[in-house]
Amino acid sequence: MLVDRLLLGPGPSNPYPEATEALARPLLGHLDPEFLRILDETNDRLRTVWGTSNARTLPLSGTGSIGMEAAFANMVRPGDVVVVAVNGLFGERMVDVAGRYGADVVRVDHDWGQPIDAERVLAAHPAPALVAAVHAETSTGVRSDIAALAAAVHAREPDTLVLADCVTSIAGIPVEIDEWGVDLAYAGTQKCIGVAPGLAPFTMSERAWQRRVERPPTWYLDLGLIGNYVAGGAGGARVYHHTAPTAMIASLHAGLGRVLEEGLPAVYDRHAVAGARLADGLRDLGLELFAAAGHRLPELTTVRVPDGVDSAKVRTRLLEEYGIEIGAGVGQYAGSVWRIGLMGHNARLDRADLVVAALAAVLGRA
Ligand code: PLP
Repeated sequence: MLVDRLLLGPGPSNPYPEATEALARPLLGHLDPEFLRILDETNDRLRTVWGTSNARTLPLSGTGSIGMEAAFANMVRPGDVVVVAVNGLFGERMVDVAGRYGADVVRVDHDWGQPIDAERVLAAHPAPALVAAVHAETSTGVRSDIAALAAAVHAREPDTLVLADCVTSIAGIPVEIDEWGVDLAYAGTQKCIGVAPGLAPFTMSERAWQRRVERPPTWYLDLGLIGNYVAGGAGGARVYHHTAPTAMIASLHAGLGRVLEEGLPAVYDRHAVAGARLADGLRDLGLELFAAAGHRLPELTTVRVPDGVDSAKVRTRLLEEYGIEIGAGVGQYAGSVWRIGLMGHNARLDRADLVVAALAAVLGRA
């Protein structure tokens, strides 16, 4: 999002070049014992970052969306009731994907810019098979309370599974899969982990595993088959499924290693401090923040485009004159909201100050 052009640069703009450097190492074969060691360690690192002991934790081969698709493909039987909390684009996408796998989808719409309301989600259906929500809505910059949602769901109906989209939350704000009682979650690599897009970290509880569809209508995303490769099938032997993207997994391994070396509390703090600085700077410029107060993501700040300002022109100037990429709004907010990410190595005070200064200059508010 912000300064994406520099995201992969190992130069002075990026103090965390490990993930990029890993891409340049000699390629390992997907059955090479050294690669398998890296894969196992990547899964361990994912478990740590996600706060889970789930044995079934692995990077799926594909971008974040494939995590979403795998979750619904492996859990939904035609006619299953799936309640989806929708408060932005990615909740909308969950509705679409769940429906394609035959779910009887009950959507609970919220105003964009607001967090999800666990009580309303709960009231939507007495005993759904699955309740799904986005932890960090990238389309609006809103954080929802997944812990509260999962606690409410499990307290009422222990058989209902909870699915969380953690694409923009992983390694940016705290995620505690086991403590919160989340049964399934997926993420992306390109946000706060700071690795190129291309993998979808995925985790599922034993409970979810027991309830999965035995033969889902997709071969590639059949977690039963993939699991035999990653963790070993009957007898522990790994069974070939598809050729793992070894360079990407080596890069994720390095990116997660960097995050764990810095330490999760320090990483979360860095995102929080940079996000707060950006929000303050934007307010000082007289701009109005979009996401509901108290529920704003530090790693993705949304702000209203001032009246009379051409959103696209400002974004183009930021990119061309300052090398800064900020996102346009989504859907009905396409021309009226900007989305500014300070993720991964960009979650730094100097980055926050740079965006504010550049925006001030471009808007003529310096
Ligand atoms: N979910 C959320 C919250 C996202 O922000 C994104 C992408 O930005 C996705 C899902 C889809 O991920 P991808 O674009 O990597 O497929």
